[in-house]
Amino acid sequence: MSHALVVGAGVAGLATAWGLVKRGWTVTVLEKGEIPNPTAASCDHHRLTRWHYGDHIGYAARMGLAFEAWDRLWHDLGVCHYVETGVFAVSTEEGDWADTSCRAMDKLGLPHERISAADAVARFPNLNPDLAARFVSYTPTGGALMANRILEGLRDWLAAKGAEIRTGTEVAELDAEAGAVITASGERLTADTVVIAAGVGAPALGFPGAPDLVPTTSTIVYVEPPEDLADAWQDAPSWVDFGGFDDLWGIAPVEGLPPKLGLGRLSVPGDPETGRVATEERVQEIIAAYRGMFRDIDRFTVRSAQTNFYTTAPENRFVLRRAGKAVLLSADSGHGFKFGALSGYEAAEAMDEPGRFDIIAERMAGHFAG
Ligand SMILES: Cc1cc2nc3c(=O)[nH]c(=O)nc-3n(C[C@H](O)[C@H](O)[C@H](O)COP(=O)(O)OP(=O)(O)OC[C@H]3O[C@@H](n4cnc5c(N)ncnc54)[C@H](O)[C@@H]3O)c2cc1C
Repeated sequence: MSHALVVGAGVAGLATAWGLVKRGWTVTVLEKGEIPNPTAASCDHHRLTRWHYGDHIGYAARMGLAFEAWDRLWHDLGVCHYVETGVFAVSTEEGDWADTSCRAMDKLGLPHERISAADAVARFPNLNPDLAARFVSYTPTGGALMANRILEGLRDWLAAKGAEIRTGTEVAELDAEAGAVITASGERLTADTVVIAAGVGAPALGFPGAPDLVPTTSTIVYVEPPEDLADAWQDAPSWVDFGGFDDLWGIAPVEGLPPKLGLGRLSVPGDPETGRVATEERVQEIIAAYRGMFRDIDRFTVRSAQTNFYTTAPENRFVLRRAGKAVLLSADSGHGFKFGALSGYEAAEAMDEPGRFDIIAERMAGHFAG
């Protein structure tokens, strides 16, 4: 029976461990913090999943597989951690993100609606009645993946299946040729394969031939609408763009959580050791970016805010590489949670069937041949 050491218990590492256990591997997970680790990119109440993908058509083409992989995970966990809200994207100019997303979905035959601005405002009363839009694109599927509950569910499933889960175990060094790691406390561990799924912790481990993996900051804000707008937000969809270059995305209220606002424009390279404070200035900048998008955004109350880090790879693609007895998985670039179950499942497939490794890695990188 093959044995894997999986370094990192974010969604990528835990889902890879899930895929390997299903294939009969013995797995040891090494995580420097707890699970979920508050500094992991995967850690929050939820993450958005949606079909819109701009001109990254290769990822749009893989979304159906991503949903199927989550379904396989819900089956194994015996519980579903996905809340469907529907998702919209606003187009303000020809060729913008919503427009290219629609063209990609048309090409792929994915179901979506184009709604006029007037109809969208009537249908989604949380929107600004004067919303500037050429059209609004809507998919009834997509919504919130309950991230922390998914990590906890995977952790518990793995433990129940006999995987060893070692929290508080930081890996300090990788020896890819030998299939070995040395922990911060000096312990040397070996396996048939070592999987590096350490998020922003990966570059420090010096994986041979790794591409540039850049820690990138991202702040989100949970906001409460005023009481008189509560009805307008009930059953509201999540959103993934409002046109222009701001990259406004967010998650509608689900399971008692208030709306979550994101602003991709502020996602820039940063230092995960020192840059984790969600400053008041940044929070206010995010809220200001939503003026004209949602009704009366200035009357909303900030409930909480977080600054976290993800790992950006070249062209925002996912990376699956091998060197000696080690495998690097960085399926992130700020859009990796929605693919978490699929990325882990496919990474396990690539390790278990090494003759297919390169083709699986190419597929995961979202290259589109269709
Ligand atoms: C604010 C924010 C919002 C996002 N929103 C979305 C979204 O809406 N939809 C979406 O699809 N994606 C989203 N993403 C991206 C998504 O969260 C990431 O792509 C995904 O969670 C990456 O998972 P991972 O397992 O690769 O990394 P991580 O979750 O960071 O996991 C890495 C783990 O490795 C551990 N580790 C690190 N170094 C070591 C070491 N040396 N030894 C042992 N353990 C180590 C860490 O503690 C951590 O637990 C968002 C990211 C952020 C930060």
